[in-house]
Amino acid sequence: MSPLIEVTHPRGIYLPEADLWLDPHFGGKRAFISHAHSDHVARHEMTFCSEVTRDLMKTRYGYKSEGEMRVLPMREVVEWEGWELRLLPAGHIIGSAMLHLTRKADGATLLYTGDYKLRQGLSSERCELLHADTLIMECTFGLPQFTFPPTAQVVAQVLKFAQETLEDGGIPVLLGYSLGKAQEILCALAEAGHPVMVHKSIWDMTRAVAPLLGKLPDYRLFDAALAAGHVLLFPPSNGRSIAIKKLKVCRTAMLTGWALQPGARFRYQVDEIFPLSDHADYPELIETVEEVKPRRVWLVHGSTREFAADLRLRGFEAWTLEKADQLELTLQSASPVVRPALEKSADDWGEGSFAQWAAACAQTAEVASRLKKVEVLAGLLKSLPSEDELPLAARFSSGSTGDTPLNTGWSLLKRALIELSAVNEVEYRTISRSQADTGRTAFLVLQRAALSPTPCSLSNVAALFDQLRKAGSQMERVTLIKTRLQHLTAAAGSWLVRL
Ligand SMILES: [Zn+2]
Repeated sequence: MSPLIEVTHPRGIYLPEADLWLDPHFGGKRAFISHAHSDHVARHEMTFCSEVTRDLMKTRYGYKSEGEMRVLPMREVVEWEGWELRLLPAGHIIGSAMLHLTRKADGATLLYTGDYKLRQGLSSERCELLHADTLIMECTFGLPQFTFPPTAQVVAQVLKFAQETLEDGGIPVLLGYSLGKAQEILCALAEAGHPVMVHKSIWDMTRAVAPLLGKLPDYRLFDAALAAGHVLLFPPSNGRSIAIKKLKVCRTAMLTGWALQPGARFRYQVDEIFPLSDHADYPELIETVEEVKPRRVWLVHGSTREFAADLRLRGFEAWTLEKADQLELTLQSASPVVRPALEKSADDWGEGSFAQWAAACAQTAEVASRLKKVEVLAGLLKSLPSEDELPLAARFSSGSTGDTPLNTGWSLLKRALIELSAVNEVEYRTISRSQADTGRTAFLVLQRAALSPTPCSLSNVAALFDQLRKAGSQMERVTLIKTRLQHLTAAAGSWLVRL
């Protein structure tokens, strides 16, 4: 197996063997620019980019011939200094590209995504992925909470907002970036037939890319005196501008993936907020890694630590590239690669019927088919050592601990987990946020505790639940849970927590 292409991050993403920077924020010697968003554009001695990105840099940012601009065609292999370079559409905005490199000496490959999304946009090409040994990817929305609804559904909500505001005699103001989001909304509004007015920056950008886009609605430059009856399109930075404030009847809506964060509408101080984004959401990020099948993943932007931990749990070697990461290193040393539940051996579960039950639960969670789930559970019931345990297995499998509640809230479980492991509050929160699943959080935390598993039956657990119901104080409950978890494996313990 050929050695992986070296990736470093001195001030930005740098490939030392090729002496090439990837989207650096500062002027450098040789760089690849993935797309024409202003935070990716800088002057370099030599620049690789797509044709559209080059044109936008010239027309919009005034880049003339100070440095050499090398346009790479999409999908075609270009040879360069012992490397094969290939651009792939990134689906982020018009002209956005991923860079695929092959080291000709031994065939080692690398894919750099830049900003991207897998969903088909209205104003950008569909993203295309290619296998690579090393994957450098953005993970702006690398937490499970960022699962966007279908684009058509969001666009329908935006159009409804515009329609209703107009019907009420108001002026709808949609806020989105001048390049990318603005054209995306324009294309969507083309279908609805509303007259549109745009801010100057959106006007200029749209005119620059208009020949490359499909059908656009009639749009005109913003004029406050004539704004009534129009849908307004402004960049987010102008959402609270004087011009907008003067239009007393306007209602504002922000279009951003951050809409899925609790309290986003209040933070952006808008009337409505819709999850329309140019970036990949969490399921798309996972899909990307599964499709590229890399040996190593480097993460940049956003929830890099949490997403790295998540990928490792799925069996990928993944690291954050931008910052040294203490937590990841400790997690890594505790367990080099955490495999999904199905691949765990019997050692991972421990002994006794409770461990058997937990392993069966993990297995049913992994398989999609109902028939297979039933098969797994039937196998478990048949293998139980005592008939007395059948009703317990059935009850626990339905998620019930008994007729009366246990009074063990999540905060109590958290206390038990923290006291049992070496994890501090901050680390706990980081793990918890990255998982958004109590069982998986418990599994990662328990891996860092000194456990001494002993056989545990379903009856033992039922007895624990009785003790918890009778316990006089929270302290007593914490101790009971701690003691039980200490004598289970991390995997089995995580299923006790789920229960
Ligand atoms: Zn971008």
